Amino acid sequence: MTNQINRSAVVIGGSIAGLLAAQVLTDHFEQVTIIERDHLPDGAEVRNGTPQAYHGHALMLRGRQIIEGLLPGLENDLVAEGTLVLDQGADSMSRFKGGWAPRINSGLKVFSMSRPLLENAIRRRVMQNPKITVRDGYDVLELLTDAGGKTITGMMLRPRGKQDTEMLTADLVVDASGRTSKTPEWLGQLGYPQPEETRIDAFVGYATRWYEVPETHKGDWHAMWIQSVWPTIPRGAIILPIEGNRWQVTLFGVAKDYPPTDEDAFLEYARTLASTRVYEAIKNAKPVTPVHSFRSTVNRLRHYEKLARFPEHLLVTGDAYCAFNPTYAQGMTVAALGANALAETLRESSGNLDGLGANFQKRVAKAIAPAWMMTTTEDLRWDTTEGGQKGLMDRIIHWYTDKVFTLISQDEELYRAFLPVQHMLKPPTSLFAPSIMRKVLAYALRGTPKPQAIRSTQEVNPVGAGD
Ligand SMILES: Cc1cc2nc3c(=O)[nH]c(=O)nc-3n(C[C@H](O)[C@H](O)[C@H](O)COP(=O)(O)OP(=O)(O)OC[C@H]3O[C@@H](n4cnc5c(N)ncnc54)[C@H](O)[C@@H]3O)c2cc1C
Repeated sequence: MTNQINRSAVVIGGSIAGLLAAQVLTDHFEQVTIIERDHLPDGAEVRNGTPQAYHGHALMLRGRQIIEGLLPGLENDLVAEGTLVLDQGADSMSRFKGGWAPRINSGLKVFSMSRPLLENAIRRRVMQNPKITVRDGYDVLELLTDAGGKTITGMMLRPRGKQDTEMLTADLVVDASGRTSKTPEWLGQLGYPQPEETRIDAFVGYATRWYEVPETHKGDWHAMWIQSVWPTIPRGAIILPIEGNRWQVTLFGVAKDYPPTDEDAFLEYARTLASTRVYEAIKNAKPVTPVHSFRSTVNRLRHYEKLARFPEHLLVTGDAYCAFNPTYAQGMTVAALGANALAETLRESSGNLDGLGANFQKRVAKAIAPAWMMTTTEDLRWDTTEGGQKGLMDRIIHWYTDKVFTLISQDEELYRAFLPVQHMLKPPTSLFAPSIMRKVLAYALRGTPKPQAIRSTQEVNPVGAGD
């Protein structure tokens, strides 16, 4: 807790990153205002500013731990509202390159709910904090500085659909406005350099439809994940059970193999994955929504940490700073890591806001580096991916992890080693432990099947073989 009690902070964006940042800021600021462009709903609804919320959102365990630490009691709220608690290994069927992962009691308890339910529960908890005010229905238009142009002092706002503008002052501004963040543009207008951007685009598309869970569903599995199979089957799918006895069925395709939004074609696409199990599950299920699609999935990292000149009293977090190809389900956990980094930076600064933004950007860059490395390295596996250079190290990692994804279906120990990496509890480098390396090398010496063999058999490893 700092001694500078009368200070105010403003957060731009009232989604996951903005809400978590606001909660952290209340330990150091007397007033925290969240400015959100959308008129926020009272309940769990998809809104214009977060169109991704139609699509399956898996919350990794690391993210859930951080969020529960910031908002104690949130997990109870989620369960009370219908979130399912699943054992990742026993209740979820996961298909990797080599087939279905073994069904095991993994001890990893995952929460399965819709993204609107999660965001609504977080928002409700955050709004209970008396230091936080949410001003929804306001667009942030530009940032303001002091006379010397050195320090951010606030912003101009406009109520949605109106012409008048308003000035809002702040001692600290946090940009959590997501992929469409205007901070680079605003920096340019203020005479600052814009951050360098790394963009790596695997051209991933999503299409999602929600269904009632059919009465005929035996309940012998609750969630299903079918990975795309490099290099032959760029398509995959996820079925997530959510509140209200529904399935959120997301189909995805890499390399511009976008899943269609046409209803019949959606089903047909589901039939052409590495396994037909998703198709079998939904072919007679009753849809409760149309098909929604999403294609802006480029991995994009804005290197604020490298800027030689950055205004004081400003920082950028969440997707506004670093947005990911969503197939690895890291974005919300990265937003939580950003909140953690903010808490640490504020603690370390002992109340001094000068240099805080630059220190935060360095700290958050470090915190998210493993997630960025995992996603972008994996995306570079596809020759159609644009924006990155595949180096020797990438090729070695591709060779190695390809073996890991092939072996997981045959090896419980490997699957147990993979799950904490997937949930961001351990770094991807833990898959290079000597015991795993020995298995990979032994497998490589035995020889690997040719990829064509996989393409010709629709069902490489039918369900049951791995159960
Ligand atoms: C298709 C898809 C699937 C995903 N699946 C997963 C998953 O399975 N697991 C996971 O962890 N993550 C997933 N993600 C990522 C996740 O959605 C985001 O990382 C997460 O929401 C954090 O984003 P954010 O809060 O930074 O930004 P956003 O959620 O994009 O929110 C930005 C907010 O800022 C507001 N805003 C924007 N501009 C302004 C402005 N000028 N003034 C005022 N308000 C403004 C917007 O209205 C919005 O509310 C997925 C993303 C996509 C696209």
